[in-house]
Amino acid sequence: MSLRLESIGKQYNDDVWGVRDVTLELDPGIHGLLGPNGSGKSTLMRIISTVMDPSTGTVYWNGTDITDSPNTVRSILGYLPQDFGVYPNLTAREFLEYMAALRGLDRKTASARIDELLTFLNLKMDQDRKLHTFSGGMRQSVGIAQALLNDPDLLVVDEPTVGLDPEKRTQVRNLLSSAANERVVLLSTHIVPDVEATANKVALLHDGELLTHTDPETL
Ligand code: ADP
Ligand code: MG
Repeated sequence: MSLRLESIGKQYNDDVWGVRDVTLELDPGIHGLLGPNGSGKSTLMRIISTVMDPSTGTVYWNGTDITDSPNTVRSILGYLPQDFGVYPNLTAREFLEYMAALRGLDRKTASARIDELLTFLNLKMDQDRKLHTFSGGMRQSVGIAQALLNDPDLLVVDEPTVGLDPEKRTQVRNLLSSAANERVVLLSTHIVPDVEATANKVALLHDGELLTHTDPETL
């Protein structure tokens, strides 16, 4: 399994490029996408998740051009957008059932998978509470759970630790690293400790350009 970005650029308007000429190859494991606000992390993730077309370049999943045939990757993709919203009046379980139905999972498969994820994320006890009563950390866990519903080969999570205290950040990081087995995981953050402990590789973005993609020690 591998995701390959070739010369990816996104021009938002005359003088604003979100990213420019990014070439990057991601193998299974956790890849941290590190950069300050405005460096292009969300832009790159939206392109990989096929919710936005690049202005230049191509993205390949196992050699298939996904800018051309996005459905190839959509079925094996889990995505947690930066501005992910939950439905406040649904319980955690109802919300995950709803997301599973949208993904086309049958009831029985969905129910078993939701049990597994709620347990894995330490949310089993809270599954029947409405989401508006959840803390920020718990809501992020639900966001990660919905991204994992279809057991994705490619998991893209955009700033999942934002707004969390250090302890919760560590939990989210550990959770993602235990989910990383045999998947390509791309985790964006502007917080260095988020990637130095758990990422196998770090891609450093600055001003829309990729500075390096290497292991944390080398970085
Ligand atoms: P990050 O996620 O690293 O904070 P973004 O990808 O959101 O960075 O933004 C990269 C650059 O693209 C910034 O200069 C931002 O202002 C610009 N940008 C992002 N989204 C849009 C948009 N929808 N329209 C115009 N400019 C945008
Ligand atoms: Mg962003």
